[in-house]
Amino acid sequence: MEQVAGFIKKGCRWPTLVFALVFLVMGFCGTGVCSEYSRSDYQQFQHAIIDHRNRLNNNFKKIVRKTTRYIIVHTSELGLSTTLRVVSRGKQFASGHTTPGGHAHYVIARNGGTYRILDKQFRADHAGLSMWQGRQNISSVSIGIELVGYHSAPLTDRQYRSVALLIGILQKVYNLDDTAVLTHSQIAFGRPNPWFPKDHRGRKRCAKNFDRSRAGLGPTLASDPDVKTGRLLPDPYLAELFYGKQPVVAQVAATAPVSNLISKDNTAWSIAGGDYNSQTTSYVLPGGRILSGDQITETIGWHLLPVNTKVLLNQEVATKKPDAPGIPVKVITDRMTAWSHAGPAYRFDSTIYFLPSGTIFPGSRIADWDDLPKNTQLIVGYRGPFIITGERTAYGIAGQKYKDPGTVYFLPPGQVKTGDTITDFSNLPKGTRVYLPLDDIG
Ligand SMILES: [Zn+2]
Repeated sequence: MEQVAGFIKKGCRWPTLVFALVFLVMGFCGTGVCSEYSRSDYQQFQHAIIDHRNRLNNNFKKIVRKTTRYIIVHTSELGLSTTLRVVSRGKQFASGHTTPGGHAHYVIARNGGTYRILDKQFRADHAGLSMWQGRQNISSVSIGIELVGYHSAPLTDRQYRSVALLIGILQKVYNLDDTAVLTHSQIAFGRPNPWFPKDHRGRKRCAKNFDRSRAGLGPTLASDPDVKTGRLLPDPYLAELFYGKQPVVAQVAATAPVSNLISKDNTAWSIAGGDYNSQTTSYVLPGGRILSGDQITETIGWHLLPVNTKVLLNQEVATKKPDAPGIPVKVITDRMTAWSHAGPAYRFDSTIYFLPSGTIFPGSRIADWDDLPKNTQLIVGYRGPFIITGERTAYGIAGQKYKDPGTVYFLPPGQVKTGDTITDFSNLPKGTRVYLPLDDIG
């Protein structure tokens, strides 16, 4: 109830009143979503929105939006806490450049929790260089919703439920049909570059995995209106995804590469789009070396980027090395979530988590990659634990590899170490556990 009181006290301006009245008087039938959600679903959802507006950067200039034509869906490429900070407080770039925040109206967490970042009457700076139906600067005529997650990874059922309810409410308020709901990747465009001699789609991959049907939405337009009229060149990858022969609306998740790892078919361009060479895109090489997009040309070159290089977007400042090369213990930080470290393996039994509290558990016990506290350590592709006892030494467990950097030890009450960093194996604490790499088997 506190949320409701805060909402009324702070948000009781004209648009909010209209919002509330429309909601109470008309209900939500007629938009196609009423079949799935009841009026009380909408009420409960709206009352549960967490008000985050007081976290907004004071330097953000609030400008009332004159008209609202679209609802734009984004994926944040970050965990919840960092997403909230960036959209409210702003981005910091390695160059020293900062933005004053206000980068979304709403954020939807992996558990469906929905945050109000900026009152929806104001313009949020979320779409950047953008065009739809000939209209540019889409931030000035749209609402921006950030889904916490990655464009190359599945969104959650709870997020789809929340985004369906939120979009349903906003469609009523602004009288928008389903074709007004678009992903950032659909509306962003890029200026000419070595691959595109003209303005073109493909600058963003943002929310390309957004499954409209799971959000209760009908199809998007049959073709890209700006490509059709020749204002923009198509990005072949996105064109196939959104407007291809098959009705991909419900199959986006199935057809899109669900990996952020470089392969022959999954190039830097198909993963990062126009952000491929950005300072804010990080490339984590198989050995652990990290380069930003703007360093690739002068260092290894695009054509030599190794297979299985991991691509991370929206790394506002150059990512610090999350772990030294070759050392298998990874750390969850603001930038690096369990998903960015392990991908789909985050919930495998062979991914072991060491929480700051000293608790240890396998990935199969994790509901979502965004549930883990900062400074949690993890190892990917391991078996164990093997517990050291009076009868069973480190050598007895790991053989000659007991001193290897790939052999991981958990020393009670809470230290995680690799074999090469332990000097005295005769003095390990009682209950020390050993973990061995899976690929050593056989
Ligand atoms: Zn976006």
